[in-house]
Amino acid sequence: MIEPNDFIRAQIVSDLASGKHKKVITRFPPEPNGYLHIGHAKSICLNFGVAAESEGECHLRFDDTNPEKESQEYIDAIKSDVEWLGFHWTGDVRYASDYFDALHDYALQLIRMGKAYVDSQSADEMRSSRGTLSEPGRNSPYRERSVEENLALFEQMRSGALEEGSCILRAKIDMASGNINLRDPAIYRIRKIAHHQTGEKWCIYPMYDFTHPLSDAIEHITHSLCTLEFEDHRPFYDWLLDTLGTPSHPQQIEFSRLNVNYTVTSKRKLKQLVDEKLVHGWDDPRMPTISGMRRRGYTPEALRDFCNRIGITKSEGVVDVGMLEFCVREHLENTAPRAMAVLRPLKVVLTNYPEGKMEEIRAARHPNMPEMGERVIPFARELYIDRADFEEVPPKGYKRLIPGGEVRLRNAYIIKCDDVVKNAAGEITELHCSCDLATLGKSPEDRKVKGVVHWVSATKGITAEVRLYERLFTDAAPDRGDVDFKTFINPCALEVVQAVIEPSLAEAVAEERFQFEREGYFCADLRDSMPGKPVFNRTVGLRDSWKPGA
Ligand code: ATP
Ligand code: MG
Repeated sequence: MIEPNDFIRAQIVSDLASGKHKKVITRFPPEPNGYLHIGHAKSICLNFGVAAESEGECHLRFDDTNPEKESQEYIDAIKSDVEWLGFHWTGDVRYASDYFDALHDYALQLIRMGKAYVDSQSADEMRSSRGTLSEPGRNSPYRERSVEENLALFEQMRSGALEEGSCILRAKIDMASGNINLRDPAIYRIRKIAHHQTGEKWCIYPMYDFTHPLSDAIEHITHSLCTLEFEDHRPFYDWLLDTLGTPSHPQQIEFSRLNVNYTVTSKRKLKQLVDEKLVHGWDDPRMPTISGMRRRGYTPEALRDFCNRIGITKSEGVVDVGMLEFCVREHLENTAPRAMAVLRPLKVVLTNYPEGKMEEIRAARHPNMPEMGERVIPFARELYIDRADFEEVPPKGYKRLIPGGEVRLRNAYIIKCDDVVKNAAGEITELHCSCDLATLGKSPEDRKVKGVVHWVSATKGITAEVRLYERLFTDAAPDRGDVDFKTFINPCALEVVQAVIEPSLAEAVAEERFQFEREGYFCADLRDSMPGKPVFNRTVGLRDSWKPGA
């Protein structure tokens, strides 16, 4: 059931109630010129969401009018991202290029109506005669060409007889219009380049502003939802469909783009990061692409929850990336099994624990979900704790292990640090501790031990590569424009450590997610992790300051 929770859904509810439409048909129309990012997730959730809620349809249509920038790799990635987010398009994948014949016919129709002409001005002349926001444009000297001449020239454009850049087909509307998009916009240009879908068939390609409304109309889209920068294009959208009298006239409705702080949401800029090898590809877990977030360990549920929380409005704003991380953490908190991994190992020898003895400690996989079962954690004389959990000279209020101090090993015993062993360089190499053998699963009666640290058996633990990710940008608004956004790349956004992990993690399969106790949420890497030799990515830490309503 669709609820009028935002202005677009309210419009749809009313269109269904009034009988204007029996069924809602929306579309998600990416250009296959890059991978999808978090901003696209908002558009996907909206378009597929309203269709699903109203038992309507949503098409996946590639707006593929720029063959030189497009590729099959992007098409495949986009399809896989939409599916991963949990959405299904109606019917086959569609392409604007499926309609190139129909679009060509519509262009001929405009010419015959005297509503389009071939302009032979140079690009510079066209630019200078377009006018400005405050000044009207000037008519092209070619504007009054006859229908016959235009038909002949357009046919020469199509057949390849004319050179790229020698002319374009323009709609004939009003060079004095206050809306620059109505000053005889270009609708077809010559591009002597093969297309990934249509091959060598065409050497003229329709412009986006011509293609988009007509593709919507051909597909009987009811609500064409797009971002606010297209508001000024709506008059041409409507002019075109009205002038041609298309069998359907979709309603374009604009909403605000998603902007997220500490993040760049422009395919062009993300492509720059990839091309300049500043990240390891589009699906690098530092990237705000859907495939990057997926590899990092974000869940589709978390992304959908995020899109739901930000809502749909017409006002531009910037969303705190902390809110996205909150949604990820919240979903993983309830679904990810627990395990222990020591990221920066420091050896501990329990001097009073018998050599050769091995205990099998059982611990819940999830504290609130007994149905997830238990795991077995081996415990013996030698183990690792994290370097950060020991301080020789502790700062005030330090609750973890210190010389002479006690701490609880999570799920196991209380230990006391008796000796700090150092190498010739004065670096700590191991700790000699004693273990209170009466404290397995029990608190001692005579004293309180506050600190708890995680640990992994040195003999049974497994070494694994762990990739520690931070935000990719150090500045809240890397994209603000006065400084090159690449200046703000965080050089510490990726740190690779050799961790020691508890044996239950060894067989993790790609994309399996865990909470490493006291550390955060981690996901077995989609590309590089193999059962027996796992590689983990840090998805997000355990805590952050962002709270709902903050
Ligand atoms: P970019 O600016 O990153 O290149 P785009 O708008 O050119 O994005 P398209 O492939 O044309 O990318 O986008 C497909 C759909 O996703 C469009 O309807 C577009 O309006 C929407 N979209 C793109 N970016 C955002 C965003 N940040 N927030 C919401 N919707 C977005
Ligand atoms: Mg676009």
